[in-house]
Parts: sequence; C-alpha cells; structure tokens
Amino acid sequence: MKPFTYLRVGDTADAVRWGREPGTRYLGGGTNLVDLLRETLEQPDRLVDVTALSTEIEPRDDGSLLIGAAVRNTALAAHPAVRDRFPMLSRAIMAGASAQVRNMATVGGNLMQRTRCAYFYDDEGARCNKRSPGQGCDAIEGFNRMHAILGASSDCVATHPSDMCVALAALGAVVHLNHADGDRSLPLTDLHRLPEDRPDLDTVLRPGELITAIELPPLPFGRRATYRKVRDRASYAFALVSVAAALELDGDTVKEVRLAFGGVAHKPWRGFKAEAMLKGQPATSAAFLAAADAEFADARPLSHNGFKVELARRTLHAVLLELTEMTP
Ligand SMILES: Cc1cc2nc3c(=O)[nH]c(=O)nc-3n(C[C@H](O)[C@H](O)[C@H](O)COP(=O)(O)OP(=O)(O)OC[C@H]3O[C@@H](n4cnc5c(N)ncnc54)[C@H](O)[C@@H]3O)c2cc1C
Ligand code: SF4
Repeated sequence: MKPFTYLRVGDTADAVRWGREPGTRYLGGGTNLVDLLRETLEQPDRLVDVTALSTEIEPRDDGSLLIGAAVRNTALAAHPAVRDRFPMLSRAIMAGASAQVRNMATVGGNLMQRTRCAYFYDDEGARCNKRSPGQGCDAIEGFNRMHAILGASSDCVATHPSDMCVALAALGAVVHLNHADGDRSLPLTDLHRLPEDRPDLDTVLRPGELITAIELPPLPFGRRATYRKVRDRASYAFALVSVAAALELDGDTVKEVRLAFGGVAHKPWRGFKAEAMLKGQPATSAAFLAAADAEFADARPLSHNGFKVELARRTLHAVLLELTEMTP
C-alpha cells in the first residue's frame, strides 16, 4: 500500500478545503476504500476522514427526513422515524453486507462504493475499462452472471452494488453536496452514471465534492412498501436482482407507485416505465406483469445473465401482489 497522510476533520468547510487538493480521498467507514487501497486500485496521497461530520437524523413535521452523510448504516436502519415512515429503507440496509460492515459503513460511503465486478478487482489478470480506461472489458465475453441487463455499454457492463441506494431511488431522495466552487443538490437518480464510454466515472460528482446529507421527501404511502433482494445465499452476497416498491391504492386501483431495481444496471434503476404503466390501472396480477414487461423490454442480457430478466419480472410481480394484500 502506498503511504498516505491521514486527517480527521471536524467541519464541512475543512473537508472541502482539503478535498480540492489533488490526490485526496474522503474516508467514511473505510469498508470499501481500505480494500481498494490494499489492492492498490486506489492510491491517494491523503485521506480525509469525514466520520466526525453530521451524524444527525432529523425527522421533520412535514414527514420528510434529513440524514447526515456520516450516519452509520446500522443507526439509519434502526432509527424509529425511518422504521415508521420509510420501512423500505430499513429493509434495504439490513439486506446488505454484515452487521459488522453496517456498523462501520456510512451513508456517504455507501452511495460512493464501487462496483463488485470481479474483473475490476483483478488488477493483474483482467482487462477493465473502469480501472484503466481504454484497456478493454473482460466481463463482456467472460463470466458475466452478476452483470447488467439494462443501460450497459460496449465499454462496461458492471452493476452498482448498493442496496440502500435502490431504496433511496424509489423514495425520491435528494443528495446534498458541498464543493469549493459552490454547493448543490441532486436527485439520487441523477448521482450515478450509466457507463457509456466513461465507465471510470461512477458518478457526476466533481473532484473534491463532498456528500453532506441525504433528504427524503415526505411519502404518505411509505408504509405500504418493501425491499426484496434475491441473491445466491442469505448473507454476504450482492443482489442478483432486487426490488424496492411502495404502493398507494384507491380502492382496487393503483393511485401512486414507486419502483426501483438493484443488480440490473450500472446505477440504481428507477422503474419510471413500470410506474407510468401502473398509475390509474386496476391492481391486478395482469397489470403488474404488463408493467414488468414494459420496464424490461429494453433489457440486453449477456451470455450468463439472461435469467435476470425473468427473475426481475417475477420479483416485481410478487412484491406488488404482496403490497396489494398488505394492511398499511
Ligand atoms: C464483506 C462485504 C459485504 C458487503 N455486502 C454488501 C451488500 O450486500 N450490499 C451493499 O449495499 N453493500 C455491501 N457492502 C458494501 C458496503 O455497503 C460498503 O463498503 C459501504 O457502504 C461503504 O461505506 P463506507 O462508509 O465504509 O465507505 P468508504 O469505504 O469509507 O468509502 C467508499 C467511497 O466513498 C467515498 N466517500 C465516503 N464518504 C463520502 C462523502 N461524505 N462524500 C463523498 N465521498 C465519500 C470514499 O472516498 C470512497 O470512494 C459489503 C461490503 C463488504 C466488505
Ligand atoms: S464490466 Fe466494467 S468494471 Fe467489469 S471488467 Fe468490464 S469495464 Fe471493468
């Protein structure tokens, strides 16, 4: 591992001031970044530890919630306001990693964690455009069972690994960012990129830009919601496919619906097409399957992951049936 300087900052202004220096990386719980340092996939000169920044979880009277970026994953999943107003988010966090990792990992770090594509980590044996732009991608013709079926490019077919981000996408979360050149806020669905011809860029963040908080707008039907993760084993496994869903019914008709998918794309995939198909329709099995078909009509499976299309379709169908029968 290359030697680096370690700094722990106490306020956002200090973090952003250091963040503008080339060769600096922010450090959350370190559960992803330290692995990348050990593998020499990241070689910064300076780590700026941001875990002393905001750990506040602030429920507001209008039903919204402000979450500091240094909040640990366990604390967020267990918070009474999250469990009450946004149970989908609690479930998504608890479906990820292990208790030990969740105790260390921060919200900011979870959003910024890197793909788990095995070829990305295989520095000596595999070609990877995300690691070394222009090198090629060994996953496309290789073992690509875990890879993307939507939004991929001829340069990269990796998936985004986070469970939390799938729930945040469905909930319409807004990400607050600080930067030496000015602050801004973005919908979470605009934070992560599709790979196109720059798979080395995971997000639209500017160099040195710091995530300070996540805001969840009110979701009055947030209790009729769930997160279902389909994976190879019960723990320590990333999603083959996951579905975050919230449903509002008016009698037997779908009044509002929020959908997002994990394990299918380079970013948390908000199900805008399925949502549009469902609104105003009867909440029936046939309508749910038609919506799933619309969402996955553009799916382009690879040699080993064709099963994901049917898996995602069936998981969405099952989740929506479950929510229809749920008493919120
Ligand atoms: C064994 C294992 C199993 C796992 N399984 C799952 C799983 O099933 N599902 C899942 O979702 N995740 C899983 N993870 C990943 C885990 O969730 C991430 O490692 C974790 O969320 C990263 O958070 P962190 O705070 O440790 O980030 P760090 O490792 O500290 O940082 C990650 C990245 O975020 C950047 N960063 C940190 N904070 C900020 C900030 N405030 N602003 C801007 N950039 C920032 C860092 O510079 C770095 O690039 C697993 C991890 C392990 C080790
Ligand atoms: S899929 Fe993306 S991350 Fe994986 S080897 Fe190809 S370029 Fe690298």
